[in-house]
Parts: sequence; C-alpha cells; structure tokens
Amino acid sequence: MSKVVLITGASRGIGRATARLLGARGWTVGVNYQHNEPAAHETAAEVGRAGGHARVLRGDVSNEADVIAMFDTLESAYGRIDALVNNAGIVAPSSPLADMSAERLARMFDVNVYGAFLCAREAARRMSKDRGGDGGAIVNVSSAAARLGSPNEYIDYASSKGAVDTMTVGLAKELGPQGVRVNAVRPGLIDTDIHASGGRPERAAVLGVQTPLGRPGGADEVAEAIVWLLSDAASYVTGALLDVSGGR
Ligand code: NAP
Repeated sequence: MSKVVLITGASRGIGRATARLLGARGWTVGVNYQHNEPAAHETAAEVGRAGGHARVLRGDVSNEADVIAMFDTLESAYGRIDALVNNAGIVAPSSPLADMSAERLARMFDVNVYGAFLCAREAARRMSKDRGGDGGAIVNVSSAAARLGSPNEYIDYASSKGAVDTMTVGLAKELGPQGVRVNAVRPGLIDTDIHASGGRPERAAVLGVQTPLGRPGGADEVAEAIVWLLSDAASYVTGALLDVSGGR
C-alpha cells in the first residue's frame, strides 16, 4: 500500500524536491501551497512522472481551519496519513531588530512557528497509536539559522526556527511511545526562491562559496535527508536535528 505524506509549501524549492523524491519512492503526496497554484500543479505532475501519486491542497498553514481541512481531505481520500513534512516557511527582508515592524514579527511567528505547530498537532492527533493511528514520521524543516542567530539579517526568522528545533526535541519524546518519530533538518544556504523573497536573490550563491564545501546546496540535497528521515532506514532516529548545510 502506498504511504501518504503531507508536504507543506510543496509548490517550490525544498518542498517540491521532496515531493518529487517521495514520488519516485511510490508515495502518495499531498502537495500544499498558499498562493502559487500553477507551481503546485507542476509539482504534482513531477510526482506523477516520478512514479507517485499527488493531490494538490491549497491552504495557509497559519490558518487552523485550512490545516484541519488539508488533513481531512487527505485522510478521506486515501484512508490514512503516514507522514508530515513541515516545510512551509517565510523570510522577510534583511533588517536589524530595531527596524522590524510588529506586523512583520507577527507574520514570521504565525507561519514558521504557529503553522508548524498546527500541522504537527494534526499529525499527532491522526498518527498516534493511542488515538487509533498507525504511527508515522514527522520531519520539520528548520534552518542552520537557529544556531547562527542571523544578526542584522533576520533574527526573527532564526528564532522562529529555534522554536521549531525545540518543538522537534519535545515532540519526539511525546510521540515516541505513540510510534511516531519526529526529526528536523537544518538546511544552510540552499539555492531556492526564498532568498529573492527576502530581497536578496544572489544570497545563496554569494555566501555559499564561503562555506566549507564552497558552494550553496541544492533543494534535492535537502530532500535526500528528509526522505531518509521519513524512511524505515531511519527507524531508530528520533529527536535529531540534522544539519544539511555544507559545514556552515
Ligand atoms: P521557497 O522556495 O520560498 O518556497 C516556500 C514554500 O512555502 C512555497 O511552496 C510557498 O507556497 C509555501 N508557503 C509560504 N507561506 C505559506 C503558508 N502560510 N502556508 C502554506 N504554504 C506557504 O522556500 P524554500 O527555500 O524551499 O524553503 C522551504 C523551507 O526550508 C522553509 O521552511 C525555509 O525556512 C527552510 N530553509 C530554507 C533555506 C534556504 O536556503 N532555501 C535554508 C534553511 C531553511 P506558494 O508557492 O504558494 O507561495
């Protein structure tokens, strides 16, 4: 039977690469997006071409009703949910904290923290053995920023990922007895659209050469780590924060 995964923010970047790779492993993939519907459908087509099955799901991860509806849709379509990749995330233009608006701070924590918690909560409710589930796996997409702090760039973003790390450690302990493994990947400088949305499209290329491996990473390289953490090959791994950062 095909395993079923929800990937938030799967219309582009790391989410799309993860969807494609899970498709190649025969998974059924819930492809969540917020605004970019054509890109989400392109991800779904790539999953299909790779050998998997996909269902496109619009929803804002920071909206509780949207999150519940996405999980309900997947469960009623396929009768199960085996995994969550908590990947949707945002940055904002580089700025010292002193110049950040309250609106910016609220949105950052709404999407990156509250959204990740809402999705993890729905997964916990549905996958926990005590609640009638079959167990499963969650991978949270954090960031190397959580340990670097990102001064003068975006300490709001870095701190939101610190919260994701702490949630990963705590939830792994909560859900281990429920048959659910919870891990995080912490990407470094990965070549995706996120840097342009923070106003610096060249950021990964420029800073990537300063890392020990001398280049930015690719979304596919992060996807490999996520897919491994979801797989049975990682059956004794939970509560791990796995850096995929070229040594940064
Ligand atoms: P990206 O290319 O900018 O893609 C972001 C994805 O998130 C898109 O699919 C977008 O959907 C979706 N999204 C944004 N806000 C959402 C919301 N409120 N609800 C649902 N979906 C939402 O980003 P990426 O670089 O692949 O990043 C993916 C994850 O990796 C993020 O959590 C990011 O923080 C983390 N990360 C990235 C890097 C890096 O260097 N790229 C480094 C460390 C960590 P639409 O297309 O519909 O807008």
